[in-house]
Amino acid sequence: MAKPIDDFQSRPRLLLRGLLRRCAWCGDRHAYFVGWFKRQDRCRNCGHGYRRGDSAFELGAITANIILTFGTILLTILVLVAVTAPDVPIGTLTAVTAAIGIIGPALFYPISFTLWQAVDLWMRRPTVQELAGEGDATL
Ligand SMILES: [Zn+2]
Repeated sequence: MAKPIDDFQSRPRLLLRGLLRRCAWCGDRHAYFVGWFKRQDRCRNCGHGYRRGDSAFELGAITANIILTFGTILLTILVLVAVTAPDVPIGTLTAVTAAIGIIGPALFYPISFTLWQAVDLWMRRPTVQELAGEGDATL
């Protein structure tokens, strides 16, 4: 079994980079995306493959997308109710949350990948062999 590397980014830094749509490993802002929806298998700066040998990486990214979208809906409901109580405008609340439910998955698409990459790096430290480009990033 390959040994994980000792010199590792701090976990809050990994998550912050992921939330900012940056490569969690090197922090480059271009990361894996050449457009909002078009991505490539390796970071354009450091060459780190986001899948890291995990064929189900997209499942985690989709889960991150759902959490981001529903978290935004919940936060919107809480703020709107807190600001307008006791006369909560149900029609406006419904329209705003429905719009977030439709736009959110597209808006959070690239962030969900970089955030899940950060969580994956948090849970499974990379090995020296992986960072040297060995292994299959594309699967
Ligand atoms: Zn990178």
